[in-house]
Amino acid sequence: MHPTIKFRIDSALLAEYTWTLQVFGQYIGFKVEVVTENYDIYVAEHGLGDIQVSHFFRNTYESGDKQFKAYFRTSPLHFTASNKPDYLSSCFYLLSYLQEYADYYPDKYNRFPFEISVQHHYGIHQQNLVADYFDQLYLSMPKLQAIISKKVRPTAFFLSHDIDSVYGAFGDNYAHLIKKMRIGTLMQLLFNHYIKTPDYLLLNKIMDIEDEYDVRSTFFWLVNQGKGTRNINNADYNFKDNNVQRVVNEITSRGWTNGLHKSAGKDTFENELKRLNTSGTIINRNHYLLTELPTTFEALQNAGVQIDCTMGFPENIGFRNSYGLPIQPFNFTTKSPYAFIEVPLHVMDTTLKYYNGQNAQQAANTILQFLENNKSNALISVLWHNNYFFDYADTGWITTYKTILQFIRENKFEVITPEQIAATYRLS
Ligand SMILES: [Zn+2]
Repeated sequence: MHPTIKFRIDSALLAEYTWTLQVFGQYIGFKVEVVTENYDIYVAEHGLGDIQVSHFFRNTYESGDKQFKAYFRTSPLHFTASNKPDYLSSCFYLLSYLQEYADYYPDKYNRFPFEISVQHHYGIHQQNLVADYFDQLYLSMPKLQAIISKKVRPTAFFLSHDIDSVYGAFGDNYAHLIKKMRIGTLMQLLFNHYIKTPDYLLLNKIMDIEDEYDVRSTFFWLVNQGKGTRNINNADYNFKDNNVQRVVNEITSRGWTNGLHKSAGKDTFENELKRLNTSGTIINRNHYLLTELPTTFEALQNAGVQIDCTMGFPENIGFRNSYGLPIQPFNFTTKSPYAFIEVPLHVMDTTLKYYNGQNAQQAANTILQFLENNKSNALISVLWHNNYFFDYADTGWITTYKTILQFIRENKFEVITPEQIAATYRLS
């Protein structure tokens, strides 16, 4: 049972700070009650506050300025007029994705570019900075420490596979196999492609690998075929195809999870979820990590999605809101948390291969270093596409994935399911 801590908040940013304190409470292990009398902790803009917040932060926020440069002058931390670090306001800024609500020039897929982020500017994208700030905030309050002691929280994992292609194996590997004269393999690929199950759809192979490590994962499916917006290819398969449906059912019966991979295009979450037609927790990740705030969050909320797994930087592994744990994001319109839980994406195969130009071995080293640095206070979300398990030309990527599973096993980290996430990370 978590104790309840009573906060008095003397600020116009009452809703903003209440939400940030709820996330802080979830991190430390307490529930938040906001009161005006008989409080444990006092939040105010003057020196009498146990937590002193900056009036300059409030002025800037109320003026509508959302650029990080208006809040963070020399480091990704905001300071009060008397030069004290304002951890609470800094955490609100980072956690809420406020920088993505500013005007910006999007990339060619209409996404928020990593290059203009506060994470890139200060080189902090691989740091769980909000967790560090929460630790500092906790340490700055002897009153809070007297009521509750913070327990160590080992990192946990969420594993997933986006199914963009099930017919790509033949085309992707044809040239390589001809060159290497591996005609037998080529014939097998051809046979699978046209007659049996195409290689990329042999998802049992992925489940078998994960079974060896006693872990489970989630498969995200595209229910729309062909070209979507901005020339983005959606599925190269028909989700209702018998072959595909057989695999979807197999995933469920083996105890793995199916989720929606929202396509690029005008179709709604409601329509796509209807076509996905799976039971259990409603979970989604957007194809190409397409996001535009607040439109994407509003659409997720309205469709009743329970968990979204989209918010990562395609260009780099790391933390898009500088926090390693799932949250219910802040709704700036209603000034309350969204109902869905955002499980940010941290590690993706294509980031390392295409954006960073690394080979499988280099990628393994990059990932291991990131994981070593984040062995506590995170739920690390990993995406490994199905085609990386069936690549005849570039075989190292299966080993790289197994390296991650090995790291999880050696450190006895837990791999958690969407059901566990929904039960653990809901704000009280
Ligand atoms: Zn995709």
